Amino acid sequence: GILPEVFREAVAQADVAISITDTAATILYVNPGFERVTGYSLAEARGQNQSLLSAKTTPPAVYTQLWATIGKGEPWSGRLVNRRRDGSEYLADLMITPVRDGDGRVANYLGIHRDITELH
Ligand code: FAD
Repeated sequence: GILPEVFREAVAQADVAISITDTAATILYVNPGFERVTGYSLAEARGQNQSLLSAKTTPPAVYTQLWATIGKGEPWSGRLVNRRRDGSEYLADLMITPVRDGDGRVANYLGIHRDITELH
């Protein structure tokens, strides 16, 4: 059917930063919206950990809570201070959704975020 192609195009054209990672947060895919928000292309981001976006100013407890939540297979959303490829910082409103495989095991994470610096 046409649905897989529509899904692909919807993700590619979504006006938000979307990434798909493995369970260690290693980036497998980012959409063009991710490149617009972060400055990193798919070629640059692929194979790197999502922590490449960390501005290193978000309290570690936030990340511990993030991992405790998604590690249980539950979605997490919150705000993190991120750093773009050019070094500039922005406030990210991020949602991470665990993606289960056919056996019900969490196999990947889906990250969706926006730059909310102006809204904050
Ligand atoms: P880390 O080495 O990651 O450690 C921070 C804490 O998380 C520690 O307590 C550690 O034990 C725990 N932890 C790390 N990895 C795992 C794991 N695989 N399983 C269980 N616990 C773990 N971070 C951002 O700063 N900005 C983002 O935009 C962002 N987007 C993300 C999107 C997705 C889909 C995912 C899965 C993660 C995202 N992260 C993001 C989190 C990122 O992967 C890092 O955990 C975070 O940036 C902190 O990095 P760090 O190197 O300082 O610490």
